Amino acid sequence: MTTDHQDTDTTILDTDVLVVGAGPAGLMLATELRLGGAEVVVVDQRPGPTTESRASTLHARTMEILDSRGLLDELGTPPCEPRGHFGGVPLDLTLPSPHPGQWKVAQTRTEELLQRRAAVLGADLRRRHQLLSLTAEDGVEAEAIGPYGPVRIRARYLVGCDGEDSTVRRLVRAPFPGKDAARELLRADVSGVEVADRRFQRLEHGLAIAATREGVTRVMVHEFGRPAAERGGAEPDFAEVTDVWKRVTGEDISQGTPLWVNAFGDANRQLAHYRHGRVLFAGDAAHRQMPSGGQALNLGVQDAFNLGWKLAAVVRGSAGEDLLDSYHSERHTVGRQVLANIRAQVELLLGGPEVEPARALLTELVALDGVRQHLAGMISGLGIRYDVEGPEIDSGAHPLLGRRLPDAWLEPAERGARRRTTELLRTGRGLLLSLDGDGAPALRATAAPWSDRVAFVADRPAAGGPLPTGQALLVRPDGYVAWAGSGPAGLARALTRWFGTLAADD
Ligand SMILES: Cc1cc2nc3c(=O)[nH]c(=O)nc-3n(C[C@H](O)[C@H](O)[C@H](O)COP(=O)(O)OP(=O)(O)OC[C@H]3O[C@@H](n4cnc5c(N)ncnc54)[C@H](O)[C@@H]3O)c2cc1C
Repeated sequence: MTTDHQDTDTTILDTDVLVVGAGPAGLMLATELRLGGAEVVVVDQRPGPTTESRASTLHARTMEILDSRGLLDELGTPPCEPRGHFGGVPLDLTLPSPHPGQWKVAQTRTEELLQRRAAVLGADLRRRHQLLSLTAEDGVEAEAIGPYGPVRIRARYLVGCDGEDSTVRRLVRAPFPGKDAARELLRADVSGVEVADRRFQRLEHGLAIAATREGVTRVMVHEFGRPAAERGGAEPDFAEVTDVWKRVTGEDISQGTPLWVNAFGDANRQLAHYRHGRVLFAGDAAHRQMPSGGQALNLGVQDAFNLGWKLAAVVRGSAGEDLLDSYHSERHTVGRQVLANIRAQVELLLGGPEVEPARALLTELVALDGVRQHLAGMISGLGIRYDVEGPEIDSGAHPLLGRRLPDAWLEPAERGARRRTTELLRTGRGLLLSLDGDGAPALRATAAPWSDRVAFVADRPAAGGPLPTGQALLVRPDGYVAWAGSGPAGLARALTRWFGTLAADD
């Protein structure tokens, strides 16, 4: 349990997990840790959710995740756009999901939502607290400076969710290979201008994008061959954006009022290891990328969703530390794939006339539904398949193994109302879902010793849905299928792997 006391002028906190950074990744992690029963302190140097104009897209898998925790009602019905792009080539993102497409939600709203949820679940969020130093051996000891003076936090684990310029990464000297920015996109949110909407318009001298919503026009521009500027962390001037816009489009937008100006470089780096003993990383602290296709925030939120239940199980003592290694192997693999697709997109987007043949070929390829589905699966996060049986899932394995549990209606086997599979994930526990097979009693008996961690549900899948009748699925708290079968063979091994060994008195 988090405790708090004063030692001379230093506040001392003891907790299970210290999360550094209350951006989308840190806040999602805090909610999942609390749901899993871990005590958590979150420190962030900012006074509140971001006020910057940042990410504005929630992809289908992130929406499913929010849905699985009952968080969608609070978002209302945000605008949804089925069409996305790959390097500026139009790409229909629609795949089977209750939430296909890109949902337009400002990052501020996402952070507010997750912050409220973290508070309701009892996370101890300390704003205006800046992490200064840390040591990690058997546990972690961190020093922060808060509004009332120094704070020392002792925790069993620390997770750096402190963004692309991560202090935690620097303090633990974590290798962060990759490349620095060579090119950039300039961006400004501007009022008082009239600019036609442009989706990735490639002109003779550069790329121009413009979209107007509620009286504010967001322009993005890159001039072919222009290198990324060295700005020392500062944002570009509006005049720089208007000059480049003029050279690329011939239009003068300098009379507009800039509400927000920034530049995105094409730096592309990923931590070699997401886990350094008792220090772990999630979100932009673990990977730096151009936010092409709106993937950056979604990638970080999904890192946190993968880590939260695992770390909670480890601090509760119900799982061994090897569960944390699966966090690295699963999310590093996904991150590597996303960073690679972003590098490819950057070439297609920011390259000059020399990339036109590759763009033309890609345009032909995305007309093939298999190609479209592959790219849409990667960008939306719906295509993820974890190697839950490691090291590689057998090609003859059950098609749902390692994939997310599809959202589907279930008819009660005995009494009760119809319900959706997604609703069964609300508690954050694992799930053994027996789908109208005759092996239910044997499955229930096998899973009984884990009943504090894994709920047993025996229902019938609604006709015509994506779930197989007569089979059973073991589903992790993050919604991924860890075992599938029609009898109990292999179930105890999968339960042990993902939900821990049993204590002597279990
Ligand atoms: C200007 C800008 C525009 C962007 N636009 C887009 C976009 O259009 N589309 C898109 O998909 N993505 C965009 N992104 C990327 C997206 O915002 C990030 O991917 C996302 O915020 C990452 O979430 P995170 O939780 O990992 O890190 P962050 O959101 O960066 O959160 C990190 C948190 O850590 C805190 N912190 C840092 N150091 C310390 C410390 N020493 N002590 C305490 N707290 C600390 C920070 O205050 C911050 O709150 C943009 C990013 C920026 C910077």
